[in-house]
Amino acid sequence: MRFETLAVHAGHRVDPSTGAVTPAIHPSTTFEREPDGSYPRGFLYARNANPNRNALEECLAALEGGEAAAAFASASAATSAVFLALEPGDHVVAPVDAYHGTCRLLRDTFSRWGLEATFVDMTDVAAVRRAVKPSTKLVWVETPSNPLWKVTDIAVICEIARAGGARFVCDNTTATPALQSPFRLGADLIVHATTKFLGGHGDVIGGAVVTRTRDPFFEKVRAIQAAGGAVPSPFDCWLVLRGVRTLPYRMRAHSENALRVAAFLARHPGVEAVHYPGLPSHPGHDIARRQMAQFGGMASVQVKGDRDRALAVAAKVRVFTRATSFGGTESLLEHRASIEGPGTRTPENLLRLSIGLENTDDLIEDLDQALA
Ligand SMILES: *Cc1c(COP(=O)(O)O)cnc(C)c1O
Repeated sequence: MRFETLAVHAGHRVDPSTGAVTPAIHPSTTFEREPDGSYPRGFLYARNANPNRNALEECLAALEGGEAAAAFASASAATSAVFLALEPGDHVVAPVDAYHGTCRLLRDTFSRWGLEATFVDMTDVAAVRRAVKPSTKLVWVETPSNPLWKVTDIAVICEIARAGGARFVCDNTTATPALQSPFRLGADLIVHATTKFLGGHGDVIGGAVVTRTRDPFFEKVRAIQAAGGAVPSPFDCWLVLRGVRTLPYRMRAHSENALRVAAFLARHPGVEAVHYPGLPSHPGHDIARRQMAQFGGMASVQVKGDRDRALAVAAKVRVFTRATSFGGTESLLEHRASIEGPGTRTPENLLRLSIGLENTDDLIEDLDQALA
C-alpha cells in the first residue's frame, strides 16, 4: 500500500464485536485469563501491552517501513530507552545540535551511568569519521536539525556508523515518514516525538522507537518499555493514531506554507538570515532534495538586530502564537535562545517558526507587520 493509504489504514480494523469503524479506547489496566491461565488475545496487563498501543505501534512501524515499534510516554522516554539498551562504557556519537533534551540526557544523566558521548557537527563528515572509535556503539542523527534546520546526509553518516560497527539511529521527528525514509537510507532505528507532526494537533506528548528488524537490541528496548513503564496512555495512543490519518496531507500543506513564508522572509529588508532547507541558498538544500520529498514545516529567521529586537518582533505577532514545541495546526513562534538558556549556541536574534495550516497570506501579513 502507498503512504496515504497506510496512514489511513495501518493499525486500524473494524471492531469484530461491535462493527465500530473508529477504534474504541480501552482504558482497562488488566485483561481476563482463560481457565487454563493462558491469555490468547495477547493482553495481560496494560503496562506491557494494550490494544490502543498495539494499534499505534503497528501503524508507526508500517509508516516507516520497519518491522516493529515501541511507543513511549514522550520522545525523551523513547530516547532514554535506546540509551538504556546500551552498556555502561559504550560510546555514542551525537549531533552537537541534537534536540536539547537529547543532549541533556547524554550530558547529565547517562554520563553518570557510564555512557560516553562525543558531540559533532553531522554536516562535517570528516569530523564524524574522527569521532567514531572502537567503543562506539551508536551514532545518532537528527535531520533537519533544530533550530538552523541543518541537513545531515543520512546515507553517508550511516555508512560511517556501519564501518565502525555502530548502530545508526535517526530522530525523524521534524521530517516525519511523510517526507523522509531513514530505513531506506540504512538506519537501524528511528526515534519520533509523536508530540509534534505525527500527533499533529498540539494535544498529546508521546514518543516512539521504530526498528528496521526485530533484533535483540530492539527486544531490549521493548523490555525497558515494559519494565521502566514510561508508556503512553490508551487515550494518548488513540490521539496519535487519529493524527496520523491526515499526516501526508498536513505535511504537504506545512511544507508549501513554510516554503512561501521562508521565501517572503528571505526578501524582507528587516531580516538578516532565513534558515529553511527548501531555499536554494540553504547549505543543506541539495542533500535535502535528495533525501526528502518536501522540506517540512520548520523554519527559523534571524532578524537584523540583537536579542531585544527579536523579542520586540515576537511581541507583535497576532496570528502566530509565542510558544515552544511545533507540528500542530497553528503557527508558533519562539525565541529559541530563551528556552535553551545559558550556554545556548542559538543566535540571540533568532526566532523559530512552526508553520501551521493557516492561509499563508495571513502568516506573511502577520510577520510583515511584526517586522515593521
Ligand atoms: C520535541 C522533540 C523531542 C522530545 O520530545 P518529547 O516528547 O517532548 O520528549 C525529541 N526530538 C526532537 C527532534 C524533538 O523535536
